Amino acid sequence: MSAPKPDKDCLFCKIVAGDIPATIVHASDHSVAFRDVNPQAPTHVLVVPRDHYENAAETAHYAPTAVADMIATAREVAEMEGLANGYRLVFNTGAEAGQTVFHAHLHVLGGRSMQWPPG
Ligand code: AMP
Repeated sequence: MSAPKPDKDCLFCKIVAGDIPATIVHASDHSVAFRDVNPQAPTHVLVVPRDHYENAAETAHYAPTAVADMIATAREVAEMEGLANGYRLVFNTGAEAGQTVFHAHLHVLGGRSMQWPPG
């Protein structure tokens, strides 16, 4: 597992820094939550660690507190969005799983019934 390093070209680092606009819905010491630009459900929010890690596993290895904070933030987002009937949390990890942005992010999806298994 490679050591984490800041990436000056990282899209989500730029959103965390405020250099690229996003619709921020929640922020904590460790995490920032903003609406996905291409929503796949009525609620589709991304929760990202402020520090740059490539994926969830790397974040857990180097900053386990940040992962706990991401999940706690996701719960707060779900409450704010009124997702009392349920919501789905997704960490795509690696290209084959559909990861396209290599800064860890937790998808919070809800507001419609979900299929299982996912495609
Ligand atoms: P993934 O495919 O798991 O890596 O998820 C990356 C997500 O980032 C996708 O759902 C994209 O729609 C979303 N995304 C890409 N660019 C932006 C942006 N500038 N603001 C908000 N969401 C974005």
